[in-house]
Amino acid sequence: MSFELPPLPYPHEALEPHISRRTMELHHDQHHQKYIATLNDLIQGTPYAEATLDQIMRQTASRRSQHDHAIFNNAGQSWNHTFFWHSLSPDGGGAPPAPLADRIDNAFGSYDQFRERFAEVAGAHFGSGWAWLVLDGNKLVVTSTSDAQNPLVKGKVPLLTCDLWEHAYYLDYQNRREDFIAAFLDHLIDWQHVGMRLERAPQLEEVR
Ligand code: FE
Repeated sequence: MSFELPPLPYPHEALEPHISRRTMELHHDQHHQKYIATLNDLIQGTPYAEATLDQIMRQTASRRSQHDHAIFNNAGQSWNHTFFWHSLSPDGGGAPPAPLADRIDNAFGSYDQFRERFAEVAGAHFGSGWAWLVLDGNKLVVTSTSDAQNPLVKGKVPLLTCDLWEHAYYLDYQNRREDFIAAFLDHLIDWQHVGMRLERAPQLEEVR
């Protein structure tokens, strides 16, 4: 089995002015595509060729060999990017609707405190990586991971992610990562997708 680049769930320009069409063309059509093409090359002729993306990530997470390490990185980046596209909506951002609002209030005190926590964790993350809202046991937690890492392989359920690699924001925001994170929080989060993930959390296996 070889993997294919999943189409964006909206047109390339749909997230403007917060993320430009050009950024989406490069990020989805070039960067995401390249991770998938590299993954396909790496798994060809190995037992991973028959596995799902989730299975590949779990099985290579300990990165026993350099080959496993490369497979993990490209599988992780393939998974994380697909999840990122679904974390975004042209009509997103701001406070979540009920009943998700209650879950956020209970976990963080208020939506404003959640927003502050997410901005702090994402802003403080050093280097390339991802900021996440995850379900850890029964608890909603904000965390970040480096490079291609994904909380899934640590037994947590990803609910939302923000790409912190420079390619995600450099064309539109240059070095102002905090402005990109603010745009993500205030205008782009697809809370409907987060709610759907949370509802299905016990059965979640696949990326969507
Ligand atoms: Fe990216």
